[in-house]
Amino acid sequence: RGVMAKSKFEYVRDFEMDDTCLAHCWVVVRLDGRNFHRFAEKHNFTKPNDSRALELMTRCAQTVMTQLEDIVMAYGQSDEYSFIFKRKSNWFRRRASKFMTNVASQFASSYVFYWKDYFKDQDLLYPPAFDGRVVVYPSNQTLKDYLSWRQADCHINNLYNTVFWMLIQRSKLTPAQAQERLQGTLAADKNEILFSEYNVNYNNEPPMFRKGTVMIWKKIKEVISKEIQLPGETEEKTVEVARTRTKPVALHCDIIGDAFWKEHPEILE
Ligand code: ATP
Ligand code: ATP
Ligand code: MG
Ligand code: MG
Ligand code: MG
Ligand code: MG
Repeated sequence: RGVMAKSKFEYVRDFEMDDTCLAHCWVVVRLDGRNFHRFAEKHNFTKPNDSRALELMTRCAQTVMTQLEDIVMAYGQSDEYSFIFKRKSNWFRRRASKFMTNVASQFASSYVFYWKDYFKDQDLLYPPAFDGRVVVYPSNQTLKDYLSWRQADCHINNLYNTVFWMLIQRSKLTPAQAQERLQGTLAADKNEILFSEYNVNYNNEPPMFRKGTVMIWKKIKEVISKEIQLPGETEEKTVEVARTRTKPVALHCDIIGDAFWKEHPEILE
């Protein structure tokens, strides 16, 4: 390339904008499903939480982490997923548009590709889309606060939705009536309604709903069968071989307190 003469058209490249992410900062890409309120309705999502949909999202996140470079962690809830690139990543020379578009397109194509593994009795009726944004965080504290913000959002919405749908499904309120009933209530009030009217202890709701999904890399011992041919023997033999692989695994734990970061210091290294 270097020795070839540039065409007279090539100057147009100079119009490209520089979107390099600041060096040594955490790069976060957050995706969010486009118009998923409607998408959930059209595809008969269980309310308030459709486990198939949440598990499909996590399958897509796992694909993104495996196929793309330098992602150290991901966090998902509802129709959104955040991906954290390591501080020193130099993937695509840290261009924000490359990070964002690779994440968004890999995620969206995976959502379609894996749909039928999770929605066995529900056809995919139209192609879903995800928007993306890039945010750069300069310190470990701001990154942790970002993740705490998303998990707090998950908690607030899920507590609200859990009561809201109880009022509709169990007490046959209309959505408008349920909304009115919850107007101005605090978290404690919502917990109380759940407990006294429906005998539901919110803390016993599935952690995937309450906490969202945290994806981190873990060493996994795998036992695989391998065909080998021993020297001097003509027939192949099957042997079990143990090996360790690093894979993204899903957790549904608290990431707001210090415990998670103390337990996994390598994430912030
Ligand atoms: P936008 O395009 O602005 O993001 P949206 O309709 O996607 O619009 P969000 O604020 O992203 O709005 O909310 C996503 C909506 O998708 C939720 O309010 C909920 O109705 C639905 N949804 C997403 N995931 C699930 C799920 N696992 N189970 C049930 N409903 C879900
Ligand atoms: P990068 O991820 O950097 O874009 P790349 O392999 O996609 O890497 P490109 O410069 O985008 O590199 O080139 C795309 C390549 O894909 C072409 O060089 C060609 O080999 C192949 N390709 C794309 N479209 C076609 C097509 N219609 N028919 C045959 N080959 C194609
Ligand atoms: Mg939105
Ligand atoms: Mg959305
Ligand atoms: Mg959303
Ligand atoms: Mg290409």
